[in-house]
Amino acid sequence: MTERLYRENQYIREFTARVISCENVKGRFEIILDRSAFYPEGGGQPGDRGFIGASKVLDTVEREDETIHICDAPAQGEVNCALDWDYRFLNMQQHTGEHIFSGIMHSLTGYDNVGFHMGESEVTVDFNGPVSREILEKTELESNRIIWKNVPVTEIYPGAEELGNYDYRSKKEISGQVRLIKIEGADLCACCGTHTAFTGEAGLIKATSMMNYKQGVRITLKIGARALEDYREKTENASLISASLCAKTGEIAAAVEKLKEKMSAEHLKYIELKKKYFELMCEKLTPEFPVLFDDSGSADDARILADMIAKKFPAGYAFSGNDEDGYKYAAVSSQTDIRETGKKINAALNGRGGGKPEMIMGSVSASRAQIEEFFRNNPPVRDTGRIRIILYFITPFAILSLIILSVTSNRAIEPCFVFPCLP
Ligand SMILES: [Zn+2]
Repeated sequence: MTERLYRENQYIREFTARVISCENVKGRFEIILDRSAFYPEGGGQPGDRGFIGASKVLDTVEREDETIHICDAPAQGEVNCALDWDYRFLNMQQHTGEHIFSGIMHSLTGYDNVGFHMGESEVTVDFNGPVSREILEKTELESNRIIWKNVPVTEIYPGAEELGNYDYRSKKEISGQVRLIKIEGADLCACCGTHTAFTGEAGLIKATSMMNYKQGVRITLKIGARALEDYREKTENASLISASLCAKTGEIAAAVEKLKEKMSAEHLKYIELKKKYFELMCEKLTPEFPVLFDDSGSADDARILADMIAKKFPAGYAFSGNDEDGYKYAAVSSQTDIRETGKKINAALNGRGGGKPEMIMGSVSASRAQIEEFFRNNPPVRDTGRIRIILYFITPFAILSLIILSVTSNRAIEPCFVFPCLP
């Protein structure tokens, strides 16, 4: 079994070792050394990277108590090895910071850390209960106070009988020797990972977001070098927004809010103008060709326009877009099941989409000329509804007139003589 050098000293960056085995597995080389300072992935901490001789270590994993170095090239004999120290130290900062934060949260709320993920750009921790903004800020502040105190991060290896005397987090069934990580004033937790020797090395802990997750919350943390990176990125963004809005960096949120209000007002004006423009467009339409084109490419505009046409005619059709990108379309009718026309449109114009009997929306890949050709060949629905309404109004008066005429002239009058147009 590989002698694990990081257990004795987590600050070993370079060492010499002997290659025990080197196996080609699908183009990657799995190297086992007699001794290694490379930490294999475990306890939420990613595996180390670096070099074994000239071979690049892409990842380190543990398999059957053995440390496997996943490399891009083979190695043999005695080798000089070097860790990607920036990456390892970053992970040590993350791990230490997570211990501090979870320990403080546990002491303030009693919640356990039930999920821990150390990603490429951030750490997430899940707690099994709701956390208020106030508690989050208090946990963050107390965590940083532990960093400022620069207390030692120590390891305890209690015997099996002694273990029951410790009140520690992460009480999982662990076979063999349990390793407790103690941070005075913050945490006592069973863990196999690598940590900084003193809390001061963790640098800074910043909670950047909190969301509800399962029965509790998921909190995102930026720790150490990543907190600095995050601060730098946010400062750059804030400076750009500040310059763009001519506002002080501390007042950019208010400036953005003001800009949003202004944009909303402008947008309302734009909607009104667009409505008027659409009305003008509708005026030019005829019942034989209730189809309009708009170049915004907006499905919403097509819907609004089709709706306006359908208020004037039995059905309205609107296409928004251009010949190159295709058209979003909407078809509206209160008098017929417009889905039938929709199927024809989709079939003839290489389209897709659907909807309800009174309105459908979709898109077509066809030119304006092809769309117009389609409507010339497929005339829109007849205005049967309007005729029906007129007849409903006229028929009672007609019958009444017939009765009066019949009574006054004392002879029967053929209804079709008076209203030849009746069906
Ligand atoms: Zn740990």
